[in-house]
Amino acid sequence: MIIGHQSILRILERSIKKDSFSHAYLFAGPEKVGKRTIAKEFAKLLLASHSSTKIGKECHCRSCQDIEKGIHPDFLEIKAKEKEIGIKQIRDLRRYLSLSCHHGRAKVSVIDKAEKMTKEASNALLKTLEEPKGRTVLILVTSLPNFLLATIVSRCQIIKFLGVSSFLIEESLLKLGAEKKLAREISKISQGKPGKALEFFSNPEKLKEEKKQMEEIISLSQRDLVKRFEVVEKISQNPSQIKNFLSLWKIWFRDLFLVKLGIEELTYSNLEINKDKILRQFSLFDLMRIIKLTEDIDYFISFTNVNPRLALEVLMLNAK
Ligand SMILES: [Zn+2]
Repeated sequence: MIIGHQSILRILERSIKKDSFSHAYLFAGPEKVGKRTIAKEFAKLLLASHSSTKIGKECHCRSCQDIEKGIHPDFLEIKAKEKEIGIKQIRDLRRYLSLSCHHGRAKVSVIDKAEKMTKEASNALLKTLEEPKGRTVLILVTSLPNFLLATIVSRCQIIKFLGVSSFLIEESLLKLGAEKKLAREISKISQGKPGKALEFFSNPEKLKEEKKQMEEIISLSQRDLVKRFEVVEKISQNPSQIKNFLSLWKIWFRDLFLVKLGIEELTYSNLEINKDKILRQFSLFDLMRIIKLTEDIDYFISFTNVNPRLALEVLMLNAK
C-alpha cells in the first residue's frame, strides 16, 4: 500500500506514459517512508502486462505477482548481504543488465540501501551508469544519499521523498479499518513514516513495545549517570537495539525542542509525563546540541569502528 507521495507518483506515471524514463533514478529520503515500495510498484508498471497506468493499484497479473515473489526475469533487486553490497553483487547486476529483456519492454533493477555499496562496488556501478545499455532502468534507494559517490548521484534523476503528513497516514489507517483513537495515535508515533505506521497497525505488539521503550527513554533522560550507563551497557551488545534506542532518543529530544518552541504538542502526550519539569531541565540550546550529538553518534556507530558502548556513554554524559 502506498500512502502519500502523490506528486512523485504523477512524475513517474507521466514518464511511463510518454515512454521517456531515465536510465537511473535515485530515490532518496528517510527510512520507512515508502521509497522501496514505490520503486517496486514503479517496476511493476514498467514491466506490466496489465493495462492500468496508475502506480500502486493492486494487480494480480502474472507479471506483478512475479515481481512480488522476486522471480520476474526482467526484475532484479539487490540488497545488502551482511553489512554491505559487494563487488560481486554489482558484477552480477552488470551481467544481468547486459542480457536482453524477456518481455521486450525493459530490464529493471532496484538497489536497496545503496549507501551500503563498497568502494569497489560503487566504482563498478559507476561504469554501468556511464554506459547505459538498451532499455534498462536502475533505481537506487537510500536514506543516506551523501554516502554515495557524487559521480553516481550526478548520473541519476533524483527523486526526493519527504515525510508523509500524519493526517494522510491517519486517513489511510481509518480506511484500513483502524479505530479513530488508534489511527490518531499511530499516525503521530510513526513520525511521517507510512512503513512504520503499517507495521504498528498490523502488529499491535510492536506498537506496545515501541511505547514501552519510549517510556523508558523518557524516564532515562531524567535519570543520573549511574542509571544511564547501566542501560547503555545493556543495549550496547545488540546493534538493532542500539539503532532503535538512538532513533527514539532523537525523536524524544526533537519532540521537546518543538514543544519548547511552541510548534507542536508532545507526540507521546498520552504517557504520564511531567512536561513542565522536563522542559525546565533543558534549554533550547541544550536540546539542539543533544539532537546534533545523537545524529553524530548514530553516524559513528553505523559507519565507523567506534566502540558502541563508549560512544553511547559519551552521548549520555553530554545529554544534559
Ligand atoms: Zn499487473
